[in-house]
Amino acid sequence: MRLGGMLKNSTLDYPGLVSAVIFTQGCNFTCPYCHNPHLVSFFGTPLTEEAVLFFLRKRRPFLDGVVISGGEPTIQPDLAEFCKQLQSLGYQVKLDTNGSDPEVVRNLIERKLINYLALDLKSDPGNYPLEIAPSRGEAILTTIALLKRAAIPYEFRTTCAAPFVNRETIERIAQAARGSASLFLQPCHLERDLLDSVFMHTQPRLSIAEIEEFCLVAGSYLPTVVRR
Ligand code: SF4
Repeated sequence: MRLGGMLKNSTLDYPGLVSAVIFTQGCNFTCPYCHNPHLVSFFGTPLTEEAVLFFLRKRRPFLDGVVISGGEPTIQPDLAEFCKQLQSLGYQVKLDTNGSDPEVVRNLIERKLINYLALDLKSDPGNYPLEIAPSRGEAILTTIALLKRAAIPYEFRTTCAAPFVNRETIERIAQAARGSASLFLQPCHLERDLLDSVFMHTQPRLSIAEIEEFCLVAGSYLPTVVRR
């Protein structure tokens, strides 16, 4: 596994569990508002898998879950084996993914190697903008369909970043997610280091009132829509 960092303790990242968060290195998307630009490209590995597993073995009495986030974890060839090792230590495993590889997700679910999944929906799921990911629409829709049939808890979430998210795209996201339990809408923080440093100066920030309105729009299709 190419690991770029770890948060040793979190009560926010795995619903209901105290967890560690592991950040994998490398991503196949290029979201201009990405807050983890240091994780998008590959570079020297600052954290070894052995060191992470050693830490998690010691901390098992104090942690219940491990979140595998990124970067994009599904591009790691040994992800399934890593999940298996985490579960063998007694951890519940949550995967955060952009949904670009439904086959990897399907394999992890079928082999019961993950216990929870969060899928980031970046824009209209059938038509992602080129700035984010060219030609991924079918893959995202397939991952959504797969999750709707899955026997594990999952959530959809969207970072409300203009111009990729607006009233119309929220409606399409909610329509695609219809039949699921929950969608979380979160603001885009433009003040941090972003993958595209120009983006922070050229894009307007969507207001809380606009995001609340998006919640109402999506609420016509889904039972639970929450602003984070
Ligand atoms: S925000 Fe986009 S570019 Fe950044 S890690 Fe997530 S999917 Fe990759």
